[in-house]
Amino acid sequence: MDRKSAVFTARLITYIVLIIMLIAQTSCGKDEKNNDVKKSDESFFAMDTYITVTAYGENSDEAVKAAENKITALEKLWSVTDQNSEVYAANHNGTAGLSDDTAELVRFALDMCDTTDGALDISLYPVLTAWGFTTDEHHVPTDAELAALLENVGYDRITLDGNTLTVPDGVQIDLGAVGKGYAGDLAVQELKANGITSALLDLGGNIQTIGTKPDGSTWKIGVRSPYGDGSFATVSVKDKAVITSGGYERYFEENGEVYWHILDPKTGKPAHSGLLSVTVIGDEGRLCDSLSTSLFVMGIDRAEQLWKERMDFDFIAVSEKGDIYITEGIKNDFELSESYKGLNVSVIK
Ligand code: ADP
Ligand code: MG
Repeated sequence: MDRKSAVFTARLITYIVLIIMLIAQTSCGKDEKNNDVKKSDESFFAMDTYITVTAYGENSDEAVKAAENKITALEKLWSVTDQNSEVYAANHNGTAGLSDDTAELVRFALDMCDTTDGALDISLYPVLTAWGFTTDEHHVPTDAELAALLENVGYDRITLDGNTLTVPDGVQIDLGAVGKGYAGDLAVQELKANGITSALLDLGGNIQTIGTKPDGSTWKIGVRSPYGDGSFATVSVKDKAVITSGGYERYFEENGEVYWHILDPKTGKPAHSGLLSVTVIGDEGRLCDSLSTSLFVMGIDRAEQLWKERMDFDFIAVSEKGDIYITEGIKNDFELSESYKGLNVSVIK
């Protein structure tokens, strides 16, 4: 062999080895003793978003499949547009007998509407439809239109008696602000029931984790930047949900104005509380999801007040002025990304 082809052969072997190493790395993880741990992942589209479930352990194939099946089954129950869903039945017949999972979600959501003094309101659906957020045919409603629609908004008119949901004429509900988080909780339950002690779920940017990475280290979760693609910080967690709501997620522009999909139930208009995004970190997806949406509506002062009252979650908020607020509980787990080191971070105590 001449020198040229020897070099070529050596390079080829190196590439092949590298590719094999890469494949090996993506199909398994390492435990604390550096042993290989089986890894399974599945990506699919459900609940209007891309979802990826990654689990580690012997039973991970079956576990991930069970989690996927659970999420797609829940979507069929909670969809506002699917004529066979339980939510559709309640919205169109005025009353519906709910499955236990849906009843629990509605009970929890109503409780959070109360807790947030109506910053979260699951009866906003007709207003969201008027803005076109449900169909992507966007339109800015007139004040008169909004005033008429707001007549029918008010979560306190919805009653849940056991598993029977009653929604008055003209009132319509949508569980979009809480459902993905609760779906994550129920998927986590499926994974755990299948013996999983290490997993990461990504429900369209809603992150939920089980345990630590298989090697015992924490999950380092990127906190999505409201200024564009990528993350402005990371938060290291184990066994937690990390869920972000922001105006940048879904919006449209008309005559130079930006209109986003999180509405202030008091006005029926996109919420302008001075915040660009809120990330909530806590034990349960449903709590974090409902709070990320409602703290965004409430603004920093009311968010801080609710945190002090409850202390069962932490949050990271980005203000329109570019300031970052984080609660004390995650101070040591929070780190600004390299190109955002200049941002001003205040710790709420
Ligand atoms: P995403 O679903 O985009 O991740 P959120 O969890 O913040 O974000 O939920 C936003 C969705 O919740 C909106 O698309 C809309 O369906 C609904 N929504 C908007 N504003 C409110 C509100 N104040 N209370 C309850 N639901 C809301
Ligand atoms: Mg939410």
